[in-house]
Amino acid sequence: MAQKYNPSEIERKWQQRWAADHIYEVKDDSKRTKFYALTMFPYTSGDLHIGHWYAMAPSDVYARFKRMQGYNVLHPMGFDAFGLPAENAAINHGIHPYDWTMKNIENMGRQLRSMGAIYDWNREVVTCLPDYYKWTQWFFLKFYHAGLAYRAEAPVNWCPRCQTVLANEQVIGEGICERCSTTVTKRELEQWFFRITKYAEELLDHSRLDWPERIKIMQRNWVGKSEGAEIYFRLEHESIEQREIKVFTTRPDTIFGVTFFLLAPEHPLVTQLTTPECKNEVDKYIAWCRRQTEYERIALGKEKTGVFLGNYVINPLNGERVPIWITDYVLPTYGTGAVMAVPAHDERDLEFARRFNLPVRTVIAPPGWTGEQLTEVYTGSGTMVNSGEFSGLTSEQGYAAICDLLEEKRWGKRTVIYRLRDWLISRQRYWGAPIPIIYCDKCGIVPVPEEDLPVLLPLDAEFKPTGESPLKYCQSFVNTTCPKCSGIARRETDTMDTFMCSSWYFLRYTSPEIMDAPFDDTKVKYWLPVDLYTGGAEHAVMHLFYARFFIKTLRDIGLVNFGEPFTRLFNQGTIIYRGDKMSKSRGNVIAPDEYVAELGTDAVRGYLMFIGPWDLGGEWNDRGIVGISRWLNRVWSLVTTDYYSSVADLEAKKEFLHLTHKTIKEVTVDLERFRFNTMLSSLMEFSNYLSKIKESGLVSDSLWWEAIRYFLILLAPTAPHLAEELWTRTRHPYSIHNQPWPEYDKELAKEEEITLVIQVNGKLRDKVVVPASISEVEAKELALSRERVKFYIDGKKLTKVIYVPKRVVNIVVAS
Ligand SMILES: [Zn+2]
Ligand SMILES: [Zn+2]
Repeated sequence: MAQKYNPSEIERKWQQRWAADHIYEVKDDSKRTKFYALTMFPYTSGDLHIGHWYAMAPSDVYARFKRMQGYNVLHPMGFDAFGLPAENAAINHGIHPYDWTMKNIENMGRQLRSMGAIYDWNREVVTCLPDYYKWTQWFFLKFYHAGLAYRAEAPVNWCPRCQTVLANEQVIGEGICERCSTTVTKRELEQWFFRITKYAEELLDHSRLDWPERIKIMQRNWVGKSEGAEIYFRLEHESIEQREIKVFTTRPDTIFGVTFFLLAPEHPLVTQLTTPECKNEVDKYIAWCRRQTEYERIALGKEKTGVFLGNYVINPLNGERVPIWITDYVLPTYGTGAVMAVPAHDERDLEFARRFNLPVRTVIAPPGWTGEQLTEVYTGSGTMVNSGEFSGLTSEQGYAAICDLLEEKRWGKRTVIYRLRDWLISRQRYWGAPIPIIYCDKCGIVPVPEEDLPVLLPLDAEFKPTGESPLKYCQSFVNTTCPKCSGIARRETDTMDTFMCSSWYFLRYTSPEIMDAPFDDTKVKYWLPVDLYTGGAEHAVMHLFYARFFIKTLRDIGLVNFGEPFTRLFNQGTIIYRGDKMSKSRGNVIAPDEYVAELGTDAVRGYLMFIGPWDLGGEWNDRGIVGISRWLNRVWSLVTTDYYSSVADLEAKKEFLHLTHKTIKEVTVDLERFRFNTMLSSLMEFSNYLSKIKESGLVSDSLWWEAIRYFLILLAPTAPHLAEELWTRTRHPYSIHNQPWPEYDKELAKEEEITLVIQVNGKLRDKVVVPASISEVEAKELALSRERVKFYIDGKKLTKVIYVPKRVVNIVVAS
């Protein structure tokens, strides 16, 4: 029976067998409780590296666990196949994006299969294929007919190197292109937008979502909600048709401190408000601003620039004349593109006032203020001063009183604004789904009729980027007839942002075979929403945000009956190698294929699980994976060699049962919390213990084999191939992966318990009953998290935490 563990042989064998038996094929069984475990699908930009494995292998372990727990689990896989990465790679390699993409899908598919995951490949979704993007286009039409898609000229972020428009989210750091690090400039273009701003308020609501707090915060910041007042400043200039300019402020209580007024250089009234004497300077300044990036414009602390227009507005509260200036740090896209400047209480306004010698008037007194000129900006609340009848009120009272007055006199009103802009979906690139719109000289914008979908992306177009849509030059594509009047017409030549494609792919997995609809209603009703979504935190404000918007619109159009796509979200950490994040340019990329060939898939899976808590990641270390491989070899020997029972020892039996059930309990609890590393530690400890029992033979044959049976089932999600092989070799009926997850016996699993005393600076503050096996780290963590302890340590500096094993945690804080 003893034979060497040969991972590549058994892994190939079982992968073929599972595929031939379709054991991971998912049935839509409405009688069973479903669990939709989704992993973000990969871009088709090349090989799968270990980062992909880190996203996919642990999520497969979890999906397997839920499956063994009896859930009907959908854990599908597909490819995000349109978009810049594939297109750029294709250009660099001189082959067609389609060929490049399909070749990558083949290779990545092979790699994914080698992982031994439970993907049901019948449900594979590839976003660049017409049977998929037909429906992406169909959704565009739905949005268009619902008034949620519109065309507008807008200044857009333009990457001169990628030769394309970028969404705000793709402009990072100091205004650079996320993909190629080139400085982004501005351009005016006719573009298609989705009205995501209509959902701003609802997108702020994460109350029903089990998501990481930092992702929620990033989304909230992205929406950027501000409450305040809109105030109308009357124009002094009589000959202009418009009588007033609206500003938004979060601090109406500071309105008596307005000493100048600022407009964005792009504000539509600038030309009319510029006096002839000022025109020259103003024109020069506007030309200069156009060359600035948004980031340069709003950077804090940089020297302020601006020009006086020669005109004035009237402050409605005190009737003062206020000079109008333009400056680059007021952006046309935020609020109204106009600002009432209050230099005493706003940092940038103060810098501006100092630069141009404009007056600074304190109107909010900081606590203890005695009337002297403030040398620094004061942005807090306080008592209103120099504010006419409002002097003496607190900021909060003043805020309300001034808003009431503004509303009573119709000088303004309370309002809320958002930083969120509508979603720009037009891309001047080739490798995307064409926007299904036709332009007719007679009829204007005409949506492509549904029955004419898909609008096929021509494969014979020249796709190299020129700054214009490559499809513009593809005559067979551009020239068409108008669906309304049958006259000569042109097709829209921009393609859609690929975040469109990834906003609904999880619906398609439920029914990829369906041809006459994007998805089967009944199946979507059964499977959705996604119960667990796993992937990288870098998708916080793009993919995860857009997908939420998409589902909300589908709900409002009446296509789905839920409003949030992903109930629970989990972000895995990052695998680093040689002290750095893996990247091709650093030359420190781990290719999983080599390790799979040498040590086996199960060892790679196991090592990724063991490397650290999944949400934190860890450092890849070749010695570490060898250690896991050795452990799997020991497991092999443990199970494939015979067991000889010597004497049945009662004490040994008691301990044996306790440790068996304790292990089942720990593995179950750890899996539930994605604590794969401690789960493996438990399994390792248990296998070490089993080795000792094997030497002594202190338990009966039947008890021994029962424990081995449990052990293999617990190992199955992590090392599916090895577990299946050993299961068969121990004469259990195929397949281990269809076994129910074991229940542990609570009494047997029960730990010896102790009472832990928690002290703060030596004083008894709390007591807690814990398992005797509690580790030092766990004990300290627990102590610090107790509410009663927090009361004594909050806001104080933690000096040290002392642990007296099984007795006391003493927290020392500086008072
Ligand atoms: Zn770029
Ligand atoms: Zn027409």
